This record gives sequence, structure tokens and C-alpha cells, in this order.
Amino acid sequence: MRARFRGIGFRAHGAMGLTAMLMLAACSHQTAPASEAPKAASPALASVITAPPPETTGGFDGARAYKHVERLVAIGPHPAGSDGIHRAQAYITEQLKSSGCPVEEQDFHASTPIGDVAMKNILVKIPSENPNIVVYASHYDTKRIDNFVGADDAGSSTGVLLEFARIVCARKNAQTIWLAFLDGEEAFNMQWADPDNTYGSRELAASLALSGTLRHVKAMILVDMVGPASPVFKRESNSTPWLTEVLWSTAARLGYGKVFVNESSTVEDDHVSFLKRDVPAADIIDLEVPYWHTTNDTLDKIDPRTLAITGHVLVASLPELEKKIR
Ligand SMILES: [Zn+2]
Repeated sequence: MRARFRGIGFRAHGAMGLTAMLMLAACSHQTAPASEAPKAASPALASVITAPPPETTGGFDGARAYKHVERLVAIGPHPAGSDGIHRAQAYITEQLKSSGCPVEEQDFHASTPIGDVAMKNILVKIPSENPNIVVYASHYDTKRIDNFVGADDAGSSTGVLLEFARIVCARKNAQTIWLAFLDGEEAFNMQWADPDNTYGSRELAASLALSGTLRHVKAMILVDMVGPASPVFKRESNSTPWLTEVLWSTAARLGYGKVFVNESSTVEDDHVSFLKRDVPAADIIDLEVPYWHTTNDTLDKIDPRTLAITGHVLVASLPELEKKIR
């Protein structure tokens, strides 16, 4: 994904310049409960930071989510079309099946700057008597950079979605819930330029439109880069305001108002593929991390507490969503 820095610097913050913005971001990081600095100095620290007990985070187990991130990182780089991504696909599918989730695969070919690439979205469709569908999504491919393992991008959100799957696949839900593990979000080229990005979400949205199913999709909630120790999730300005409000107000009610903040930023990401087809969509992302798209995006950057906060908000916002899309 990419941030529109013009949007961040000028639209969201008026006359405030980018330098001032970055200082502001740095300050907010400093005031957050856990400082980034000691973690960078001590990579082993993440293993001693424990997730909160699941009973305090809506049943969502941050430690389990962290374990998934660890396993995905251990696979190594897994950009779309690589050997690594086949191992990531096998891991995701195996974990979903062990949680009792019905798994479907959407295979497709994408025309990319390096030629035709075989890709796969992994889908879970949890049935209910209610035809309204809520889609929760994360991409699972990593950026094509040598030695880039993508612990935060996209290990963190994939881990959160796998743990979320364990909860929602094991129970009856008031809405039909779909989980979408999306391939090919990252641009093959270093720079983000259309149409070289979001291959998986564009394929999914297009196929649902073709089959007529898309009109039943009432909300699409995307998670991406949800693992840093001092997270700041800003309201993403492309996102559908009422859906963002459901998520952010739930977070505030749970006491996460310093994580889900009321500032805004503009990020292009997989949710745009659904927004373009008039499906309400929202993105939970902290893109303003210093290691973004560098080989420093490693496991020591991931805090199980942040995974737990994100998962808690997903679980706790479901009843609020149900009221909105009844
Ligand atoms: Zn990325």
C-alpha cells in the first residue's frame, strides 16, 4: 500500500508541513506506553512481552496471533508467484482447517510487470441465515525486496485474521462472515503505480460483481500492518465514514482511544478495490513506521499486545456492525 503524502501533509493537517507531521508522529510514538527504542536495541525483547489474557480481549488470543506471525516470518520472503508464497498458502490453509473453517481457493492469473503470475486468494465463507455478508481481509504476500520477510507487512494482519478465524469459525454468527487472505497486494515494481498492485482484491471484487454476490457484501474491513509496539491507527480518509466510525468508536469504548486516534491519513490499499464498486470498506493500518518496505520489517517489531488490541476491536465491533446493516 502507499500513503498519499500530499493528503497527509496538506489535506488532513492544513498548513502543517510534512516535517512537522513527522515530528508529530515521532512525538506521539514517544508518548505511547511502550517505546520503540529498547526493542530495537534488544530483538529478543518481543519474546518476553506477553499478550494480555484472551478473556480481557474478547476471547482473542494475541499470543496465538503472534505465533502465526512467527511462523509466517520463518517461511522467509513470500512475494506473489514465489516458492515462498506456496509455503505461506499451505500454512494459512492448514491453520484455517484446524480451526474448523471451510476453505476455498480462488486461483487466477495476473498480468504483471514481470509477466503472467499465478496467484491465489484463500477464502473462508462462514454461513448464516442472514444473507448480509461482512468481509474481513488481509493480504499475505510480501513485498518483492531481497531478504524482506514482512513481519508487520503482511505477517501481523495475517496472524490477526487467522486468530479471528479461530473465533468466528467455531460459533454461529448473526451475519454471514467471509475471511479473505489476499494475494498480490504489493506492487511488483518498487514504486506503487496502477495497475501494478492490489491484484488479489481486484480479482475478488470483480468475481463477486460478476456472480451478483457483491450486492450482499455490506462491509469490507481490511487489516494491514497492525503489529508495531507503539501503534497509531489514523482514520483512513478513503474509507467509508460510518464503517470507520463503528471501528473507532468501538476502540474508544474499549479504552484504545490512544491507538485508534481521530487524526486522518490517506492510504491506498486493498479496500479501494471494494470502495470502487460501492461496497462500504475501511482500512486499519499504521503505515508510519520507520521500517516500512525495508529489511528491518522483522519479528522483533511485532508486539503481541498490538495484535490483541486489533483483534479485540474486530471481535467487539461485530455486534455494532450487525445493528448498522440489519
Ligand atoms: Zn507493503
